[in-house]
Amino acid sequence: MNCERCGIDASLTHRDVDGFAYYLCGACVRGWDAVRSVSTDSTDDARSPAR
Ligand SMILES: [Zn+2]
Repeated sequence: MNCERCGIDASLTHRDVDGFAYYLCGACVRGWDAVRSVSTDSTDDARSPAR
């Protein structure tokens, strides 16, 4: 099977994101998790007003 993100042929890990099923390779799963933590942080940032 091919990774749905980078397209390499590898053994994939299932990820369920916003109700959609994605099949990602190990590297992309790690990148995906990192991206999701960053978005959580920026959402938190937007919620704290500077003034
Ligand atoms: Zn990949």
